[in-house]
Amino acid sequence: MDQRSGRRKTKNYAMPSFPSMATANGRNIGQMADAIDRVSCAIVGAGQAGARAAIAMRNAGFETSIGLFGDEDLLPYERPQLSKEFLLADATEPALIKKRQEWRDLDIAVSLSIAVRRVEADTRQLVLANGKTIGFDQVLIATGTKPRRLAALETTDIPVHYLRTAADSLALRRSLRKDARIAIVGGGVIGLEVAAAAAQRGAMVTVVEAASSLLARALPCPIAELVEARHRAAGVAFVYGTTVTGTQQGAVCLSNGNTLAADAVVVGIGVEPEVEAVCGLGIADADGIRVDPQGRTALPFAFAAGDVAVQYSPWHGRWMRIETWANANAQAEVAARVIAGGEASHNQAPWFWSDQHDLNLQVVGDALGSETVLRGDPEPHKAVMVALREGRVVGGVTLNAPREMAGLRRLVRSRPHLAPEVLADPTTDLRKLVA
Ligand code: NAD
Repeated sequence: MDQRSGRRKTKNYAMPSFPSMATANGRNIGQMADAIDRVSCAIVGAGQAGARAAIAMRNAGFETSIGLFGDEDLLPYERPQLSKEFLLADATEPALIKKRQEWRDLDIAVSLSIAVRRVEADTRQLVLANGKTIGFDQVLIATGTKPRRLAALETTDIPVHYLRTAADSLALRRSLRKDARIAIVGGGVIGLEVAAAAAQRGAMVTVVEAASSLLARALPCPIAELVEARHRAAGVAFVYGTTVTGTQQGAVCLSNGNTLAADAVVVGIGVEPEVEAVCGLGIADADGIRVDPQGRTALPFAFAAGDVAVQYSPWHGRWMRIETWANANAQAEVAARVIAGGEASHNQAPWFWSDQHDLNLQVVGDALGSETVLRGDPEPHKAVMVALREGRVVGGVTLNAPREMAGLRRLVRSRPHLAPEVLADPTTDLRKLVA
C-alpha cells in the first residue's frame, strides 16, 4: 500500500531506480524501457494526450502498470508556449506537465529518447527503435502529428524552421533577432504566433499565405481582417494567394514571380498524423486513427487520443482531427477512464486560443458555419462572432472578449436553434440562452 496515496500498488514490472544522470528538470531521466518487459497499459507518445492519459488513468483508479513511451529527450511538457512566450524567453526548457518526482510518485514508467517503431496486434507488443519488445494488455496511441514539409525548401542555404518540439522552438528563437528578415510560409496559428513573436523581437517579417485570408480553416473573414490589421500595425507584411517555389541567393522565390530576401524561413503549413508505428494494426489511414466518443479504435484493446485521433464533430458535421491542446486533454481523460474500467464520453466542443501581440483570439466549434453573426459593432481589437448552420449555433469566435467566450462555449455545447437577431444583440446574455 502506498502510504501517501492509500492506493494499492500491484506493479507487475520491476520499478528501476532512476539513472543518476537525471537532471532536476527531467532531461534524460528515462531509459526506463530497458527495465520493463511488459506493462498493463502502454501509451505510445509522451505529448499532451499521452501524459494526460497516464495521469488520468491513475486518478481513475487504474492500479496496474502504465508505461509512457516518448522519443523526445524531455519529460512531457506544455506545447502551446512553444510558439508564444517560450520563443521570447531565456529558459532553455519549457514548463513540464509533471516533474520527475511527480511521475515517480504516480508510479508511471516514463521512457524517453527512444521511438516505438511498431505496435503489433497479434503479439500485443511494442517494438522499440533498438529492437527491444514490450508486451501490453491495452494500448493508447497518442503519437500526435508532425509538421507538413514543404518540398520546395528541402535543399536550401537559408535556415528553414518547422515548429513542433521544444528543440524546434529553441532553434527558431536563435533566428528571431532584431532586423533579421524572416519569411513565414503559412498564415495559420503557427505562422501568426511566430510572426507576433518575431515582430516583438524587432525582426522584419513577411507572411506568405496560399489562401486569400488568414487562418482560413478556422476564422470568418471579418475577424481574420482584424487580426491582419493588428499584425500590419506591428510591421508584419502579408502576401496572399502565393506559395514558395524554392530559394536563390539568400532569397525565397514566390509562386507570383517575386523574390523575398530572407535570413530564415519558418514553415507552418499544417500537420500530418504520426501513424508510422501503427500502420500494421489496420486502424490508421492517411488522416489518422478513427475513434468513437470513448476513444476506442476498431481494435478492442487499442485506443487513440489527441491530434492523431479522427473523431466525428457534430459541430462541423464530419469526421476530422481536432488539433488542439484542449481536445488532447479532454479526449485523453475520457480514454483513460474507459481503459481503467469506467464509463465516459468525449463531448466537448472543439476550442482553442491563440495569443498574438495584444490579441487574445478564441475559437469554439465550427466558427465558419454556413452563416455568421457579429455581436454588436466590432472594434479594432475586440469582436464577437457567432456561427450557425441550419439555424443551430455551431461555433463562435472572440477577439479580446474572454467572458463572451465563456457564454459561447456553453451555448455551442448544446447546439440550440436560435434567431440570428437574438445573437447579434450585444445586450443578450449568451449564458442565459441555455439552461
Ligand atoms: P494551420 O492549418 O493552422 O495553418 C496552415 C496555413 O498554411 C493555412 O493558412 C494554409 O492556407 C497555409 N498553407 C498551406 N500550404 C501552404 C503553402 N504551400 N504555402 C503557403 N501557405 C500554405 O497549421 P499550422 O499553423 O502549421 O499549425 C500546425 C498545428 O499546430 C495545427 O494543428 C494547430 O492547431 C497547432 N497549433 C495550435 C496553436 C493554438 O491552438 N494556438 C498554436 C500553434 C499551433
